[in-house]
Formats: sequence, structure tokens, C-alpha cells
Amino acid sequence: MTGNNSVDAKEAKQAILDYCLRKGALAVGVADVDALERIAPAGHRPSDIMPKVKSVISIGVGGQTQGAWSVPAKAMGYFGSTESRAYTIAYGAAFFIEGRYQTPAIYCPPDMDNEKGPRVPLQSLKLHAEVAGIGARSLAGDILLHPDFGYMYFASIFTELALAPDQPMAENPCPAPSCVSMYRSIGRTPCQKFCPVQCLSGHIDEDGRQAEMHYDMAACAEMSQQYEAVPAVLAKAMAAEDTQSREDALFDPDNKMLWYKMSVGSGGLLAQCFECMRVCPIATQSPLADPIRRAKAKSEA
Ligand code: SF4
Ligand code: SF4
Repeated sequence: MTGNNSVDAKEAKQAILDYCLRKGALAVGVADVDALERIAPAGHRPSDIMPKVKSVISIGVGGQTQGAWSVPAKAMGYFGSTESRAYTIAYGAAFFIEGRYQTPAIYCPPDMDNEKGPRVPLQSLKLHAEVAGIGARSLAGDILLHPDFGYMYFASIFTELALAPDQPMAENPCPAPSCVSMYRSIGRTPCQKFCPVQCLSGHIDEDGRQAEMHYDMAACAEMSQQYEAVPAVLAKAMAAEDTQSREDALFDPDNKMLWYKMSVGSGGLLAQCFECMRVCPIATQSPLADPIRRAKAKSEA
């Protein structure tokens, strides 16, 4: 049963998954709505956006190309992310569901809650993906990782069509064996060691599994989510005691880059700095982590 009595739920789920994969998703899953409603805080549950929601579909698209991981940090700062591709597929899937099954569906807004500020999303797309079984939380600030696809960007679709949920991943690929070895030797994993603002810390237990993870979101955001930096620059300029100090605050070369990125609409304004993922073996070396690896796997298959 799907909520629309004339629809075969099994066929519908397969058709929706096929649609998303055909449009470029690497991974697709259906999250258990009851679990999301239990875990997400009030105001951020799927039913807070769509009261009659019966299914939350999560899709993941590939992150950087293989070549991207070798560019210098100052170039990487412009790379932005591939999430807009995930949003496009999610938009299309919502239209696909309504068109084919005459049942309401929405693209879940990936944006911030305008009542709670820029660090609180309306919905956790990460939670949707985790419960749908297409990513597991890593020691790098809970970035989701997948054993085959590595590092992905996510988008979600809500629908009143009832689809069978998938299960969360049974095994977490993080920490990778080489990360456990490094942790045993120096007390830090690669992501923790190479984060430029040292905002990652945590512990690995005796079995080589995550025991504890700390993520200083504010430090990461100041470094990488540059909408956080813009008000700080403006506040400094407004508080300047003289013209020279005000000009220094506004026209410092680093700060001028913010104005540049804003004026060209650079995705890098909202991206990570990527250094934690650049050194992550799951993000960079998983069997299908980038287009080169995926093409090789396809030709070998
Ligand atoms: S994106 Fe950059 S600042 Fe944020 S956790 Fe990763 S390495 Fe650290
Ligand atoms: S580098 Fe990647 S796999 Fe290793 S601990 Fe960090 S997030 Fe996990």
C-alpha cells in the first residue's frame, strides 16, 4: 500500500530510485519516517514541513573530481560543492512522483530555519541520509561517508506515498584502518591532524571504532562558511575609530575576497575548506569515489 490505493508500492519505489539514479544520483534510499520523527527535534521533524508525509527519500551525488584533491588550498577555496546537482534531482523526483502517482511530493528545502539563524537547518538532510542507509557519520564533524562512494552531497524528497524504508548502514567505514593506525601512533586521525583550525577531536576505542567525536562548529564555520565571516568584517568596520582602520577592515586582501565571492555568486562562499576530506582515505580512495574510479569500475564490469 502506498497511501494511494491504486499504486503498487514496490514498483513505485523502484521507479523513483531508478529515476534518481538515471538523473545522476550515486545512492538513493528511503528513510524510516517514524525514526526521523523520533530523532529530529520538535520543529525539525518531517511532519513539521509536510504534515501528511509518509516517506522521506534521500539521494546522494558525488563530490569532487579526483583531480580536485591535488589542487592547492587557495584554489580549492573556489570549488564550492556539487550539492546543487542533488537539489536538481530532488526537485525532478518530486515532479516525477506527482506526475506518475498523483500523490503529493515536495523537494525538501535544504535551507536554514529563518527563525533560528544560519546554523540551524529546517531539516537535517544528514539525518535523512543516515537513516536511509546511504551514509554514516564520520569523525570529521559527522560528515557522512559511504564505503563505495566516499564523500557525497545530499538532498531529500518528501511524499505522501508510503514506500518501504531502507535500513541505516550496518558498518561505518570511518575510521579507515590507516586512520586507526595513525591514531594509535600520534593520537589523531588525518582529518583531526590536518584541519587548519583544529576544530576536530575525538577518540577511537580498542576495537578501532569511533568512541567520541567533537566538532567545533563555530571554528569550522568561520573558516569555511563565509556568511559567518561577512557580519564580523562589517562589525569591525563599523566599530573602527578612524577612516584608516575602517578601510583596513573592509579592504584587507582576505576580506576583499569575500566581496569578490559574493559579487560573482561563488559556491566557495558556502563551501567547506575541504582539508579534512582531502586527507580522508574514504573520501578520496573509496572504489567509486570519483568519476575516474567510477568509469574504470564500469569498464571492468
Ligand atoms: S571543513 Fe575545514 S575547518 Fe571545517 S572541519 Fe573540515 S578541515 Fe576543519
Ligand atoms: S580521515 Fe576520514 S576515515 Fe579517517 S577518521 Fe577522518 S573522517 Fe574518518
